[in-house]
Amino acid sequence: MVGPVIYSFGNEAQKAQHLPGILKSDVWWAQGYSEPGAGSDLASLRMAAVRDGDHYILNGTKLWTTMAHWADWIFCLVRTSNEAKPQDGISFLLVDITTPGISIDPVITIDGEHHVNQVTFEDVRVPVENRIGKEGAGWTCAKFLLANERQAITDLGAKKRMLQRLRALATEINANGKPLLQDPDFSRKLTDLDIQVSGLEYTELRFLDAQLRGEERGFEPSILKVRGTELQQALSELYVEALGYFALPYPTNRGDHGSNMPESGPQGAANGVAHFLYSRAATIYGGTNEIQKNIMAKLLLRA
Ligand SMILES: Cc1cc2nc3c(=O)[nH]c(=O)nc-3n(C[C@H](O)[C@H](O)[C@H](O)COP(=O)(O)OP(=O)(O)OC[C@H]3O[C@@H](n4cnc5c(N)ncnc54)[C@H](O)[C@@H]3O)c2cc1C
Repeated sequence: MVGPVIYSFGNEAQKAQHLPGILKSDVWWAQGYSEPGAGSDLASLRMAAVRDGDHYILNGTKLWTTMAHWADWIFCLVRTSNEAKPQDGISFLLVDITTPGISIDPVITIDGEHHVNQVTFEDVRVPVENRIGKEGAGWTCAKFLLANERQAITDLGAKKRMLQRLRALATEINANGKPLLQDPDFSRKLTDLDIQVSGLEYTELRFLDAQLRGEERGFEPSILKVRGTELQQALSELYVEALGYFALPYPTNRGDHGSNMPESGPQGAANGVAHFLYSRAATIYGGTNEIQKNIMAKLLLRA
């Protein structure tokens, strides 16, 4: 997410410092946008960045910060001014997450896992040279990044893999003495999702083609985000349906991260429900689907 912001809006020193580590995946980043009280209404964010010579002093809280506990750096939207309209007082800062004054506390999600965090900043000193673009120009970077994020959430590769897994699972699992894949109701649902994933793929390709021809992006990332996440949830739901009884055991150390616990049922069964539950968040993160529909209504239906 942050790479394109750095190469589109950053200076040469920032590009040289950060892009190689991002390309090699040596350096991991977290996204410090949302705050308690500033999610959908992101421009109301309050994390203060007060200038002190060649540093900003940061105070405030970021919330829902995915994988901050594994991150090396965090990019933050901060408030550098309360004078102008809210969007104009926001700057985009790159922060080394090991800087003194930053504390990271887990927020456990419905699947029982630690994906997200609350990140608290207390008198955190960040060099002014870590700011991307001009002071107060962070909203432009923020919107550019969000469009990329929403487009990336389409995540076609994962959906195609999920279709493959579903097909393999339905071949392995028996329903009434026959492979589940031969059950007409299940097979209809799977084919329906397959067709919808193809529809999403061609929609994305159409949008990418327009982008390659230099057309401006508007409502397109929102369409991709909404359809991508709706399909992600539908696929995870059908996966649980296919697992049937095998979805019921819900061990906390589910067959991943090197656990040698035997799985009950087909391979991957133990993660089915966790995946289903966590994918409920997909219509929330990256900007909720309700907000995306507002954006579409504004940009698409207005015309
Ligand atoms: C698993 C997960 C991971 C996340 N990771 C990150 C991250 O790494 N970094 C980060 O910065 N943020 C992250 N987020 C935060 C995410 O972007 C916000 O949760 C999201 O933008 C919604 O904000 P909110 O939670 O404050 O909900 P609110 O804005 O309070 O919304 C509550 C409800 O009201 C609805 N609503 C609000 N305003 C309107 C409106 N104008 N019209 C119609 N409906 C409306 C919303 O759609 C929603 O249903 C993550 C969230 C989750 C769940």
